[in-house]
Amino acid sequence: MSHKKKLPVKGFCIECGEMIEECRSGRKFCCERCKNRYNYRVRANREHYAKMTVEVLLRNYYVLDLILERDIHTVNLAKLLCMGFNPDYSTVCLKFDNHSVMRCFDISYKICGTKVCDILRLEASQMLNNKMVMDNNY
Ligand SMILES: [Zn+2]
Repeated sequence: MSHKKKLPVKGFCIECGEMIEECRSGRKFCCERCKNRYNYRVRANREHYAKMTVEVLLRNYYVLDLILERDIHTVNLAKLLCMGFNPDYSTVCLKFDNHSVMRCFDISYKICGTKVCDILRLEASQMLNNKMVMDNNY
């Protein structure tokens, strides 16, 4: 029976790329400084993504609010896109066979192909009860 000496596990620091000699399995960083730099960067990227998402949602809200101020409840999606609306972002999205029911905070709307219709501002009570919103509006 041979007794093989266990070879040291080698790895690379995911922050600086330096080789980590004889590291225990699963070690990702060569030092505490690299670990901190990596974690700081990951957290900063997450915060940046969250801020960008909120900015897009607020722009969408501003566009929908402008449409409602003009007492318009149906509009071509192309017109909203020209106004800076991004249909990929909403606070609620319910997909049905031929349309999607969306919300941007307290403004509800449907996307049916190239049309955005039933744009309306929900009452506070509707905001609190999704079932009631579904029963009343869809
Ligand atoms: Zn490192």
